[in-house]
Amino acid sequence: MIDSRSRPKPMTALKPEVSARSFSTLVDRIPPSGIRRFFDLVLGAEDVISLGVGEPDFVTPWHIRAEAIDAIDKGVTSYTSNSGLLELRQQIAIYIHAQSGAIYDPNTEVIVTNGVSEAVDIVFRTLLNPGDEVILPEPAYVCYAPLIQIAGGVVVPFDTSATAFIPDPESIRSRITPKTKALVICSPSNPTGRTIPKSTMDELVAIAEATGIWIISDEIYSELAYDMPFTSVGAYPQLKDRSVILNGFSKSYAMTGWRLGYLCGPDSIVGRALKIHQYSALCASIVSQLAAVEALANGGVAVEEMRRSYHQRRNLFTAGLQEIGLPTHTADGAFYCFPQISHLGVSSEAFAMGLLERERVAVVPGNVFGLGGEGFVRCCYATRLDQLKEALVRMGRYVSYLKEAQR
Ligand code: PLP
Repeated sequence: MIDSRSRPKPMTALKPEVSARSFSTLVDRIPPSGIRRFFDLVLGAEDVISLGVGEPDFVTPWHIRAEAIDAIDKGVTSYTSNSGLLELRQQIAIYIHAQSGAIYDPNTEVIVTNGVSEAVDIVFRTLLNPGDEVILPEPAYVCYAPLIQIAGGVVVPFDTSATAFIPDPESIRSRITPKTKALVICSPSNPTGRTIPKSTMDELVAIAEATGIWIISDEIYSELAYDMPFTSVGAYPQLKDRSVILNGFSKSYAMTGWRLGYLCGPDSIVGRALKIHQYSALCASIVSQLAAVEALANGGVAVEEMRRSYHQRRNLFTAGLQEIGLPTHTADGAFYCFPQISHLGVSSEAFAMGLLERERVAVVPGNVFGLGGEGFVRCCYATRLDQLKEALVRMGRYVSYLKEAQR
């Protein structure tokens, strides 16, 4: 009989422990998304009005869904070419040309991606060598900084709050070094709703031309511009060999769940980005791509209706915020506004947590969007009018409570 005390120890006991050293330090340094953290807090909570997540409150228009149903019904379930269905790339090239006058060859200058999210990722991974700098006007959408870092780049953020959240060309010029590779812009902006005026775009393009840096332009909200007309980087043919347009279907066509976006750029970057896309994603879903062909071909009326509805809600909500004592810069586009809360004597996090706990309204603290965001909160007004009105009542009560507490 074998004495159990003399048995060899199980192998697992000899295995080295899984520790932080087992993982990428780059990834470990990156915080999880601050928007998601608030979203998770709200999930399952009752009676909460969420102005938190940046998502259309429309479902995808029926004629687009019908196209996808038809594709599934007919058994169209294969891969597509890595860069996406040629028919879709052709439609994208036509759309971008109509929007900005830019000419992109659908064969070599367009890639269909899994949302703009993937397009941002592969653009940075295509452009950046370790230590390359990317200038990022902040507050900014939360994915840019982490994806620049994961690609080995260095984020050079700068605070745009002193210029009403419009990136000031001089601040950009002064940050350009021999290591600067690119400038990222997002207009209309998440989180501020601000749109870069054409005169500023002219200056940004002139800086890029003079210094040889790239402009990466996230134009996902281009269809949602109300006061200030949207200017695409595609409107500047002189910068075509150093600019990339990122756009997609999530916001303008209410297609967040379909995961479809695209990038347009010169073949120098597109050919290289395609290598990453083909190995890491292979292609976007064929069903989503067929739906997107229909969206671009016949979705104009639905887009216009949604834009009108957001515009109406923007007017109501921003006027309401001013009335309750939360000043806001004009939210020219997208479906966000970014009211100031710093005069109430609390941080953005404390304001958002207190509002959620006391009044059951969810907003996102501005500090999660980087420099210049502290002292503000992001409100997404893509929510029913009656909910927006109720949110304003609750927020007004909360503002009064904070003012009282300050006395
Ligand atoms: N870019 C901006 C500015 C966004 O606000 C978002 C989503 O909120 C994205 C990109 C990601 O979009 P997609 O759903 O196409 O991945």
